[in-house]
Amino acid sequence: MKKIVFATGNMGKMREIREIMDGCGYEIISMKEAGVDPDIVEDGTTFEENAMIKARAVHELITDAIVMADDSGLVVDALGGEPGIYSARYLGEDTPYSVKNNDIIKRLEGVPDEKRSARFVCAIAAVLPDGSEKVVRETVEGRIGYEERGEHGFGYDPIFYVPELGCTTGEIPELEKNKISHRGKALRKMRTELFVE
Ligand code: IMP
Repeated sequence: MKKIVFATGNMGKMREIREIMDGCGYEIISMKEAGVDPDIVEDGTTFEENAMIKARAVHELITDAIVMADDSGLVVDALGGEPGIYSARYLGEDTPYSVKNNDIIKRLEGVPDEKRSARFVCAIAAVLPDGSEKVVRETVEGRIGYEERGEHGFGYDPIFYVPELGCTTGEIPELEKNKISHRGKALRKMRTELFVE
């Protein structure tokens, strides 16, 4: 069976991509399952560049599969786009998200609802066996809340309020989040680009 290798070690992401790519005729495996784990320096300046850097690094090692990689993060307008591509590294890679989230809430003290706009962004890059490349980007729009809410999700989910849902992405279960999330939307777009053209 033809393969898609996804450049991540994150099992949650693997679950999501398997769910979305189900039925496309490809076996979906992580780069670790494919036996590679390259040291990748994500020194791009955009989500797209960083996703492509990861996909190219794995394509160097595995050329007989479609290689995909993603890069995502939270963009807060009132903070000039921070933490952006540095979302994982914001205040330090190992700092608990309760600290990161409360820091963002504090930095937005006094900022009214309409200026608390934010979005989760996800870029997905693919390198095909013939070396051709594709990249897509999707977002989910929301606002930064005033306190952490919800036990689901991870990272910045507890402070990311989505008006259409009436709650944060930390308050909805994973399967429901996949339907509206930046990553879910980007994965579906990539699926269309790859297989319905
Ligand atoms: P990655 O590129 O998907 O590993 O995401 C980088 C960072 O962005 C994560 O470590 C989180 O801090 C943040 N992030 C990305 N997607 C989400 C999400 O769906 N919920 C919460 N935080 C996210």
